[in-house]
Amino acid sequence: MAEVVAVLGRGVIPADEPFLHGDDLGVLRGDGIFETANVRGGEPFLLDEHLARMARSAQRMELDLPDAAVLKRLAAQACEAFGAGKEGALRIICTRGPEQGGPPTVYMTLNPVPEAQINARRDGLNLAVLTLGYPVDTRGQAPWLLGGAKCLSYAVAMAAQRHARATGHDDLLWRSEDGFALEGPTSTLVWWQNQTLYTVPADTGILAGTTARFVFDRAEEAGIRTAERRVLVAELMSADGIWMTSSVRGVAPVHTLDGVTINQSDLTATLSEMAGFPVPGK
Ligand code: PLP
Repeated sequence: MAEVVAVLGRGVIPADEPFLHGDDLGVLRGDGIFETANVRGGEPFLLDEHLARMARSAQRMELDLPDAAVLKRLAAQACEAFGAGKEGALRIICTRGPEQGGPPTVYMTLNPVPEAQINARRDGLNLAVLTLGYPVDTRGQAPWLLGGAKCLSYAVAMAAQRHARATGHDDLLWRSEDGFALEGPTSTLVWWQNQTLYTVPADTGILAGTTARFVFDRAEEAGIRTAERRVLVAELMSADGIWMTSSVRGVAPVHTLDGVTINQSDLTATLSEMAGFPVPGK
């Protein structure tokens, strides 16, 4: 059961109270969008950025997302019920609503960030590399594939994670059919090469990460060069540091990629500090 549940028009409700109908298109089709924001000190982190991305996803999906002000009020109620003492993950969900028609279903859940995600910031990740099945340019040219929209249908992403775990990995990096590194199923790829911090451009169909954007902006301010570019997995293997970033995971270094040991960078602590994620043992 979620620790806190907040429903549009009702506010925070008892977490064991049913509120989602069986014919909701979010359930039947995974037809909807979501965001997950980090909660620290009882406040959602980068909420404006998450709501802006959610509005872009809504536009792509032709979904009627409520105004940001309404969502912010509901998020504040959820955070108040959660308290300030622990790090949380706030999910903001908007589905297409009942199959027979009607308004979108909008609600939020708030749970503590799982230990495994927090520990990965310190211990790093062993990633599989799995094909997404498309060449790198496909999703940018086929809007119906919803590249770059954060839609609810994560069944393929979850199946890929199960496959990665079953083969002894912590998680995975998606690879395009033509060999380019893309992103994780729930995280953004960041790497350090030629004294530059890189991430993958959005024209590959990846989701533009709020955490990576925030870290890159802080890095630029600190005089660290940043850029976006495509990279082949084969080239990525010799990077001077690789991280996966997300609102839940924070900044987690990759120590092994497809069985290859990856160079570790002393930038890890700097990047985590820039994004303000607590690192265990620090
Ligand atoms: N890429 C994908 C596919 C994701 O699902 C996520 C987050 O869940 C990210 C990247 C990381 O984005 P953010 O830093 O905004 O959490």
